[in-house]
Amino acid sequence: MSFQLGQIAPGIWSGSFSSFPAGVAVHGLSGRLGGVSDAPYASLDLALHVGDVPSAVIENRQRYLAALGLDASRLVTPEQVHGETSARVTAAEAGRGALAYADSIAATDALITDEEDLPLLLCFADCTPILFLDPVRRAVGIAHGGWKGTVRRIAAKTVQRMQQDFGSRLEDILVGIGPAIGPCCYEVGSEVVDRFRAAFPGHDEELFTEPQAGSVHLNLWAANRIQLEELGIPHAHIDCAAVCTACNHAIFYSYRADGGRTGRMAAVIALKKQS
Ligand SMILES: [Zn+2]
Repeated sequence: MSFQLGQIAPGIWSGSFSSFPAGVAVHGLSGRLGGVSDAPYASLDLALHVGDVPSAVIENRQRYLAALGLDASRLVTPEQVHGETSARVTAAEAGRGALAYADSIAATDALITDEEDLPLLLCFADCTPILFLDPVRRAVGIAHGGWKGTVRRIAAKTVQRMQQDFGSRLEDILVGIGPAIGPCCYEVGSEVVDRFRAAFPGHDEELFTEPQAGSVHLNLWAANRIQLEELGIPHAHIDCAAVCTACNHAIFYSYRADGGRTGRMAAVIALKKQS
């Protein structure tokens, strides 16, 4: 298992998990290079809700999805609200949020589908993208794990939704935890520490580090892995990029390292047509 980052088209960088079988689904985690947006969104901003010029974002989406071999006019994207709600989408939702933010799937932080050729897209700048692929039942999903979604176990809840809606089995589901702010950079306050300690008792060692007195750093990658393993996803099925977006904000967007006003990278996944 590994996470690989490389150019998928001239100037356009994207990451992927080697554990996800390319014959079943196309997926990618975008970088910030190779787009048309100007500062502070430069340059491959894929979000329509952060103040960037909409035509630039739509051009960026077309470039990135074309580089993945996908049709940007069919993408489905939600209005992310740091909640724990998932939505199952079908061909009827194709294009929701592709051209206008107001048209996105309302108040939803995870999407799942068993529809072929229906790209799911969620936006991130430091929050944790969690991608799901069930190659047996042929279903995919993406969840948005900021600290609020993570402490509410959105990753585990998305898997449970795949079990209910698609009959997915825990032993079949593959998970990829994408680039996000890492334990090296993610300093949190005592309120957040208390919430995670209550939600994940006995995991202090994996979750918290104290690089200096009075400063606690949280490991969101670990918190997402822990909840998935507690649910019963095999350890070997969870691939973690372990790439920090703040350390690498020349390549990825980072809300913290970029000072709040910045663009968004995307996690994208789409089931391939069965040949
Ligand atoms: Zn870092």
